[in-house]
Amino acid sequence: MGFADFHGNQETLHRIREMLGRDRFPHAVIISGPEGAGKYRLAQMCAKAMNCLEARKSDGLPDFCGKCSNCVRIAAADNLEERFQEAVEAWETLREVDKKDTRILIQIHPEVMIVPPDPPQLLIKVGQVRKVIESVYFKPVEGRRKVYIFTESSFMKEAANALLKVLEEPPDFASMILLTTNPGELLPTIRSRCISFTLSALANEEIEGYLKTERPDIQSKQRKLIARLSEGAIGRARNFDLAEYITARNDALTLLRTAVQAHDHSSLFKTTDSYRSGAEGKAKTEQLIRTLYSLLEDLLVLKSGSEDLVRNSDLQAELAKLSVQTSFDWIQSAANHLAYVESGMRRNLLRSLSLDAFAVSLEPSETTFATLAK
Ligand SMILES: [Zn+2]
Repeated sequence: MGFADFHGNQETLHRIREMLGRDRFPHAVIISGPEGAGKYRLAQMCAKAMNCLEARKSDGLPDFCGKCSNCVRIAAADNLEERFQEAVEAWETLREVDKKDTRILIQIHPEVMIVPPDPPQLLIKVGQVRKVIESVYFKPVEGRRKVYIFTESSFMKEAANALLKVLEEPPDFASMILLTTNPGELLPTIRSRCISFTLSALANEEIEGYLKTERPDIQSKQRKLIARLSEGAIGRARNFDLAEYITARNDALTLLRTAVQAHDHSSLFKTTDSYRSGAEGKAKTEQLIRTLYSLLEDLLVLKSGSEDLVRNSDLQAELAKLSVQTSFDWIQSAANHLAYVESGMRRNLLRSLSLDAFAVSLEPSETTFATLAK
């Protein structure tokens, strides 16, 4: 329990804890890093450390107990995805007129407010920032410091300007923590008022080591594979469902094989037919698209002769065979078509149709075949 539960990026963690120790945590902080790097986890840990009732030190630096009532209540929002779903479901039960004026916020502890992007556009909206402004100037009562965690950095313009006003005159007892995969998305005027921390992707070995202690039930060969597939994101490695990934990957392979070898469509149609619309079909299709991207990346890596960078290392032989049958241009065009399928999904085109179209569009026609053969 405590900061010892944060894995990787120890230097950044150390700097953050030093700031907590000086009792002058900045008013505005940006934590950037790839998806799954632990940005939200770290922000929650900071909120606990700033409000822990039994605050303690470890390694000479501030820590939190994880057991006092403040730590426990803040931890109730540790599972961001679940809390977000609950908030969205509660919003959906509102009357239409109320929906318009109600924005999604997560607040389980009175001093800690979590601001996720607001559906359906998934942007931070001005209504959310107004809620922050309404509460930020009131002194904390049940804790020492108010903490506002913005879980994404895609702000609507008006919302970003409203946030900027708070950052220009922040109360002494509040901190805003902005999480982002892409700090460039934030207004330069916001960035210049924040102290920035970056979490980087972890090395495969670090993730393997982590899995070895945290998930001893996973065999070492599988740990190796999960470490490669999580792309340095410890959060992804922690929750990686290898069985689900492999199911999606088998379908992705069917699509690619059909596209490359192009003689028999029956297995393709059987595969794409199992992708339906609706929420479940959407999740399944998204997983398929992710695995398709990772296979295409591996084909690219193989074509460039960097075998040791292949992520789907258990499929190396098969992928090597496929890579011989494809060209750089073909892989590039496959990635472009895939991006097209993704945007089609956002527009709710029939899923299995757009997947069929994807595979068929990649088949070398007589003209493109001529270019491929070169
Ligand atoms: Zn505590």
